[in-house]
Amino acid sequence: MTEYIYSILKKYYGYDEFRQGQEEIIKNILKGKDVMAVMPTGSGKSICYQIPAIASDGITLVISPLISLMKDQVFSLNQIGVRAAYLNSSLSFNQFRKAIENAKAGIYKIIYVAPERLLTDYFLNFALNANISILAVDEAHCISQWGHDFRPSYTQIHEFVDLLPKRPVIAAFTATATSRVKQDIASQLHLKDYFTVSTGFDRKNLHFAVEKPVDKKSYILTYLKNIKYNSGIIYCATRKQTIEVYEFLKANDICAGIYHGGLNDDERNKNQDDFIYDNINIMVATSAFGMGIDKPDVSFVIHYALPLNIEEYYQQAGRAGRDGNPADCILLYSGSDVRMNKFLIEKGIEDSEGISDEQKKSLIISEEEKLKLMTYYCTTANCLRKYILNYFGETASDNCGNCSYCKRKYNFDCINNDSKNILKVIYETGEHYGKNMLADIVLGNDKNTRISQAGFDALPEYGCMSRYSKGDFLRNIKWLDDNNYIYFTDDQYKIIKITPRGMALFQRKSTKIVNSIKNKIFGNSDSQYDSKLENELMEFRKKTAQKLGMPAYIIFNDSTLKELVTYKPNELNKLFYIKGLGENKINKYGKSIIEIITKYQ
Ligand code: ADP
Ligand code: ZN
Repeated sequence: MTEYIYSILKKYYGYDEFRQGQEEIIKNILKGKDVMAVMPTGSGKSICYQIPAIASDGITLVISPLISLMKDQVFSLNQIGVRAAYLNSSLSFNQFRKAIENAKAGIYKIIYVAPERLLTDYFLNFALNANISILAVDEAHCISQWGHDFRPSYTQIHEFVDLLPKRPVIAAFTATATSRVKQDIASQLHLKDYFTVSTGFDRKNLHFAVEKPVDKKSYILTYLKNIKYNSGIIYCATRKQTIEVYEFLKANDICAGIYHGGLNDDERNKNQDDFIYDNINIMVATSAFGMGIDKPDVSFVIHYALPLNIEEYYQQAGRAGRDGNPADCILLYSGSDVRMNKFLIEKGIEDSEGISDEQKKSLIISEEEKLKLMTYYCTTANCLRKYILNYFGETASDNCGNCSYCKRKYNFDCINNDSKNILKVIYETGEHYGKNMLADIVLGNDKNTRISQAGFDALPEYGCMSRYSKGDFLRNIKWLDDNNYIYFTDDQYKIIKITPRGMALFQRKSTKIVNSIKNKIFGNSDSQYDSKLENELMEFRKKTAQKLGMPAYIIFNDSTLKELVTYKPNELNKLFYIKGLGENKINKYGKSIIEIITKYQ
């Protein structure tokens, strides 16, 4: 089974590796076991039910509350060659009927459906006669009154399942769930003897920072000048502040969009679409912006003002880096924000109707308590990531290596060259090996045939410690372990993995990730990163997407773009080595991509 699901991952998605949790979830679903998965935003939940859908007979139903996300997912699936459709209130009656007809004719492998459609006659008429093998419940916390986004229609799911002639495997997914919500999900969905995964709250690719600039606006200007970004969000506390920051950017020739409650629906939708479709790169917004936005390539989220509490902060900051690329979450703090927030809290609660004065009082107290904990985040003399994770009840190491506190405290240059090289080897071989294999690579042991088979003898670090003994190697490993750059897996294999702190050495240094295996195939790419080529490929991506009425990232995302520019593949079969290009996309766009690249060789 392992080989089969890896081949699907490569063929359809163009990826070589599963992320944490994915492989086990997929295998369990395929074995017929129910699953409950708690995985953070951007960790790749969709693949967990899409691959079983592709791999099994029958139809997979995906229940999802968010219309915009359904549309996105269906676009993406069609792009990679998987037939899919969605059924929700955005379809006209005729479109809906047509989709049901197609579904009955067995045209779709995956159908996204809004929960309130499940028990309608039209849908039941199809579902009761169809072979539904998997039922995936996305945003499963919506089923619970204890969650933050309760949707009554979710509670009808088990009623629907009971009507089906054959019970499908049920897999529930959510990014946030306390133990109470988890219990609720399991009991409401009648999960049986289920497999459960929780990959935790941590988002390793996010860099957290708190800054206290004298002038927040000029901080933002300098920041935007100095980084390379795809898109970003600047959150403000009030409508007035949003307009102020937006006008300031405009006055400085920075093209941005604006989003707040004072705009009418049309304006808001247009501005949101402009952002999703890359017509504007920066969105200045109040907290009204972001629900249901699945844009994977947001490179930064800046908070111009202090959020009201950590939940809100983490949810908004978490909209950065869904694609797994390094992204910044920066909070611009000033003491006066605390007073402003106290005022907003009191006013909000005073103005709300239907609650007694007594209740108002106690609400104000609990909200101010949460605000206090938000303020402590800005003033803590410890790791920011640890602070957030502890807040959500998770333990964390003292030094994540990827927040403003840890970056300032530790000077990475103190790490010696040999240790650096060992880290690079661990990284470039995909964090798959234990100390013996790694020793053989850095010591250059040519008797180990696994090394040449995997092409690791082409790594620049191959044999870089050949003048040393294995004992020297092991001492370096111990040093890396003691200093929290690496860790060993708990299982019998004792595989060496890199901690976020170690990872921070690789990330953010350059846009070009050196991958020596690819260098072997493509020849060493010693040429400069060609931004003209990058622009032309981006233009191609945008035009193609526009023709299809889709956001650009659905054609190919930024990681794929970077690899194309770095390696300049000049033949169709070389495109298979580029991350994110599966068979279908290569068939559709490969020729045009190669044509563009050839011009730059
Ligand atoms: P979630 O639903 O958990 O927020 P998504 O399913 O939208 O996350 O996935 C986020 C991004 O990660 C997508 O761009 C997806 O293609 C990418 N992704 C998922 N799995 C992998 C993988 N194994 N390797 C590389 N990228 C992946
Ligand atoms: Zn840290």
